[in-house]
Amino acid sequence: MPVLCSSCGNKRAVLKRPKTGHSLCKECFFWAFEEEVHQTIVSAKLFNHGERVGIAASGGKDSTVLAHLMKLLNERYNYGLELMLLSVDEGITGYRDDSLETVKRNEQQYELPLKIVSYEELYGWTMDAIVKQVGLKNNCTFCGVFRRQALDRGAIILKVDKICTGHNADDVAETVLMNVLRGDIARLRRCTAISTSSEGDGVVPRCKPLKYAYEKEIVLYAYFKKLDYFSTECIYSPNAYRGYARTFLKDLESVRPSSIMDVIHSGENLSVREGVKMPQQGTCNRCGYISSQALCKSCVLLEGLNRGLPRLGIGKHHRLHDKILSQQPLTEKEERKLKAVDF
Ligand code: SF4
Ligand code: ZN
Repeated sequence: MPVLCSSCGNKRAVLKRPKTGHSLCKECFFWAFEEEVHQTIVSAKLFNHGERVGIAASGGKDSTVLAHLMKLLNERYNYGLELMLLSVDEGITGYRDDSLETVKRNEQQYELPLKIVSYEELYGWTMDAIVKQVGLKNNCTFCGVFRRQALDRGAIILKVDKICTGHNADDVAETVLMNVLRGDIARLRRCTAISTSSEGDGVVPRCKPLKYAYEKEIVLYAYFKKLDYFSTECIYSPNAYRGYARTFLKDLESVRPSSIMDVIHSGENLSVREGVKMPQQGTCNRCGYISSQALCKSCVLLEGLNRGLPRLGIGKHHRLHDKILSQQPLTEKEERKLKAVDF
C-alpha cells in the first residue's frame, strides 16, 4: 500500500522529511520548505521593502536553491526587493570556471543581473597560482580571507544594501563545533547570528535565510525542482579539520536528526563571561577594511605572497608584521621560517 502524504492526505508521499520525519508528497514538501524559509526571513526581519540585495552565488546547491527561493518568495510575498547575483571567481581551473557557467545559466533562468569579481583582478593572484606557492595545506585560509573581502567589494560595486549567503543549518552547526574545538570565543559568539549589522566602513551586512534549512532537505528540494546546479567539490579542498567536524555531525544526525538544530541552539544560547577579552575592531591601515590589527588579514596574506614569504599570514607572526611593512631587513632565520612551504 502506498503511503499517503501526511499533510494533504490524498497524494502519494514521495519522501520522508529529514527534519521532521513526516511523509510528504512533492507539492506539500515544496510548500513546507518554502514557508519555513519565509518564516525565517520574516521573523528575523532580514530585509526591508525597497532594498537592493545581492545573492552570493557559487553555482552550488545551496546558493542555487537560495536564488530560486529569494526570487519566488520576493514575488509571492511582495518583499519589494531588487535582487541580483554576485559571484566570486577564485581562479580555480577545472572547478570554479565550470561552476560559474552554471551561475551564468542561473542569470538567464532567474532573470537576475550577475556580477563576477575575480581574485586575479582584485589581488593579482588566482588560487591556482597561490596553491603553486603555498601548497595544499593552508590554501583555504587564503581563499576564505580573500573571498570575504571580494564579496564586500563586489557588493559595493553593485551598490547593494545587503548580501545573502546560502549557509545552511549544517554549515552553522559545523561552524559552532569548529569554534568550540578551537576555543575561538569571538567567532563562536558571532557565528550563529542570522545577520550581521554593518561592522564598519566598507562592510556590507550579510544574512543567512537558509540558516535553519537542513542540507539534506536543500538537496531534496533542488532535486525534485530539477534546479540547475553544480555539484563537484573544489579540487583544492583538503580542509581536514572541518571535514572531521562534518563527519562527526553527520554521525550524530544519523542517530538523532535534531542534533543539527540542537548544536545551533546551544551556540545561540552560549554567553560570554564578563571580563573575557574580545578583539577590538578597527580598520586596516593599508586598505581601510575592518581589522583588529594594524593590517587586515587579507593585506598580510597578500604581502606574504608578493614577497615570496607565504607563511607571513599563517600562525602567529604579528611581531614581524611591523618590521616587514616598514621594509626593515629580516634576519636569515626569519626569512627561512616564512618561506617554508611544507607547512
Ligand atoms: Fe577555496 Fe578551499 Fe573552498 Fe577550494 S575548498 S574554494 S580553495 S576555500
Ligand atoms: Zn587591508
